[in-house]
Amino acid sequence: MIVKPRIREFICTTAHPVGCAELVRHRAERLRGLRLDDAPKRVLVIGCSGGYGLATRIVTAFAGGADTIGVSMERAPEPDRTGSAGWYSNRAFEKLAADAGRRAFTHEGDAFSDEMKNRVADTIAEQFGQIDLLVYSLAAPARRHPRTGEVHRAVVKPMVPFSQLKTLDTDHGRVIEVSLGAATGSDLADTIAVMGGEDWALWVDALGGRGLLSPAFRTYNYTYIGADATRPIYGDGTIGRAKAHVEETARSIAERLGEGRARVVALKAIVTQASSAIPILPLYASLLRAVMNDRGGQEDAIDQILRLFRDVDPDCDVDEAGRIRLDEAELAESVQEEIRARWPHVTTESLPRLADFPGYRSEQLGLFGFGVPGIDYSLDVDPMAVTFAERAA
Ligand code: NAD
Repeated sequence: MIVKPRIREFICTTAHPVGCAELVRHRAERLRGLRLDDAPKRVLVIGCSGGYGLATRIVTAFAGGADTIGVSMERAPEPDRTGSAGWYSNRAFEKLAADAGRRAFTHEGDAFSDEMKNRVADTIAEQFGQIDLLVYSLAAPARRHPRTGEVHRAVVKPMVPFSQLKTLDTDHGRVIEVSLGAATGSDLADTIAVMGGEDWALWVDALGGRGLLSPAFRTYNYTYIGADATRPIYGDGTIGRAKAHVEETARSIAERLGEGRARVVALKAIVTQASSAIPILPLYASLLRAVMNDRGGQEDAIDQILRLFRDVDPDCDVDEAGRIRLDEAELAESVQEEIRARWPHVTTESLPRLADFPGYRSEQLGLFGFGVPGIDYSLDVDPMAVTFAERAA
C-alpha cells in the first residue's frame, strides 16, 4: 500500500513503516563512536516507543552500551492497515540493537496493569537478573487503576478559568484564542491518578519486592517545568499538580532506596504525540523553535538525553528541589524575554515571521514517519514489514 499521513489536530491515524524505522536508525547513527562507560548497563524504559522514552532507549543502548527492556502501548499492523508509529519504532530499535550486539526486549500493553509489571519482572529475572536503571517516561491519556478497576482520564485544564488564551490550530496554521474552564476537584484527582507518581512507585516496589533492583539502581521520571507562556495550562494547571505529585513520589522512593536514587529530570519542550495534545504548547514550541534557530543551540530529545547520561552527576547536579535540570537553555531569561515579546504580536499573519511553524509541522509529521529525507513516499510498502530505506552502496 501507499501510506500517506492522515492527520487531524494531533492524531495521525497512519504511520509510515520505513519512515519510522529510518528515524530510529538516524538517531542511533548519530551516537556512533560514543562510549559512555559509566552509563547503566541494564535499563528498563516505561514509555519506550516515542519522544523522550525512545530517546532514552536509544542513548542508553547505542551510546551507553546497555541491554534494555521497553514497555509501551501499541497497535500492531494488519495487512491493510498500518500499525502505530511506536510499533514500527520498537521493531526498528530491536533490529538495530541486535545488530549492535545489545539485548532488547519489548513488552507492548498497559504499563499500569499488574500483569505488565509481572511480565517485565519475569523478563528481568530471566534475562538480566537485576536492572540498574528504570526510566519512567509514560505519557498516557487514561489509567485503569490496578486496585479499584476505575478508569481515570487525565484532564488538561487550568485551575482557574482563562479566556482568550492563544493557541495554534495546527491543521490550518492559524493562531486562535480559546477559553478554558477551571478544573473541578475530580478533574484534578483523575489527572493526578494518571500522570502523578503512584504508578512509578508501584513499578519500583513491584521490582524491588522481587529483588530485581541492583545495588547501583537509580530511577528517573521526566517532567516539564516551563515558563510564563505555558504556565496557565501546564505549571499552574492540572498537569503541573500531577507533576508536583511525581516530585513528592521521588522523595518517598528516595527515602526507601537512598538519597539521590529517585530523581525527577526536567527536560525542554519538544514535539511529541503527548505534547501536541496540550493547548498552547504547539504555539509555544513553534515560537521557541524560531528563537532557538536564531540564537543557535537547538536541542532535540537525543541531545537532551545524551546530556543526561554523559554530563550529569545525579548525586550533585540538582536544583534546590532535588531535580536534574536540562531545561536551562529554554528557560534562559533572554530566550523567555524574546518569547514574551513575540507572544502578544503573534497572529495567523505574523506566524511565519515570528514562529517556526513549518519546523514544528515537519517534526509532527516525523513522529509518524513522514517527511524523512531519502524516502520515496510514492512507493508501495508492506505495513506488516519493518524495513529500513535502501542506501546506495
Ligand atoms: P510520548 O507521547 O512521545 O510517549 C509516551 C509513551 O508512553 C509512548 O511510548 C506510549 O506508547 C507510552 N504509553 C502511553 N500510555 C501507555 C500505557 N497505558 N501503557 C504503556 N505505555 C503507554 O510522550 P513524551 O512527550 O516523550 O512524554 C514522556 C515524558 O516526558 C512525560 O512524563 C512528559 O511529561 C515528559 N516531558 C515531555 C516534554 C515534551 O515537551 N514532550 C518535555 C519535558 C518532559
